[in-house]
Amino acid sequence: MKRNIFLLVTAAILIPFLLVKSQTNDNQKTLKAKFTIVMHAGAGAISRDMPDSVKKEYINALSEALNIGKNILEKGGASLDAVEKVIRFLEDDPKFNAGKGAVFTSEGTHELDASIMNGADLSCGAVAGVKHVKNPITLARAVMEKSPHVFFIGEGAEKFARQMNIELVDEKYFFDKKRYDQWQKMKQNAEKNKKGTVGCVCLDKYGNIAAGTSTGGMTNKLPGRVGDSPIIGAGNYANNKTCGVSATGTGELFIRNTVAYNISAMMEYKNMSLKDAVNEMIHKRLKPGDGGVIAVDREGNYIMDYNSEGMFRGAANSDGVFEIKIWE
Ligand code: ASP
Repeated sequence: MKRNIFLLVTAAILIPFLLVKSQTNDNQKTLKAKFTIVMHAGAGAISRDMPDSVKKEYINALSEALNIGKNILEKGGASLDAVEKVIRFLEDDPKFNAGKGAVFTSEGTHELDASIMNGADLSCGAVAGVKHVKNPITLARAVMEKSPHVFFIGEGAEKFARQMNIELVDEKYFFDKKRYDQWQKMKQNAEKNKKGTVGCVCLDKYGNIAAGTSTGGMTNKLPGRVGDSPIIGAGNYANNKTCGVSATGTGELFIRNTVAYNISAMMEYKNMSLKDAVNEMIHKRLKPGDGGVIAVDREGNYIMDYNSEGMFRGAANSDGVFEIKIWE
């Protein structure tokens, strides 16, 4: 009897104490938890002579996109949501070569590619060669979450979009006068290949990394050509054990060098830092002018590196960093 009373009293004292303690630990975990977001909107021959007004337009759009993702992560949202929302915003802006601003193929059409990956379980989804999908990144996410498959192309991808109630648009939606003029100039060899592509990588407060990439591809590409952006391991990759990566540049070279996966693999198998692994791919394996990557590791360290003239990019994190850059 005495023993039971003793146990009851001990429990009455200890249980509330343990409950308060575990709550405090949870709060501390959330408070201390870090988040990081990096984003790009293409690397390439970005002229430094760009008028200030145009530069401002880019910086404003990139800041707005970065803020969308930062706010989601700050409030404890999921990295996948931040990645999708940021990319949707960039897809809707004709300045960037993804969604609305997709470049022209050699036949004057538009073929869009996108992919997304969840570093928590290596699930991923991708679409290529879609012609009527307003936001290919959302379709890629639906492939990942609502189909048993990873990669859909062309008509099948659009049929799946219809089944998922994902917005489809007329091909005319993708016509943009500036892009058209660029394409005409490129055909006359008067313009360097206009690339672009948008991408975003996030680490959320729960330690989950997600990466997404969306593009119209390369200007004047042959119909049916698919670049690295929708290819998991080439233009996009995420693994909570290592890092998340999104690439931009000449897709063929990123595919041949399996750039995004190699960065993660060097970290996993050779214990390399994110910085060294990115340096190896961008400056030793690829050649000047090929492109760049943005990446975040599981500690929240980030890198935005490229070997071209510039790269539209931005980063923000829980330590108060908020930066947008085009050149060095
Ligand atoms: N990587 C893209 C592609 O090859 C283009 C780009 O990033 O500019 O389709």
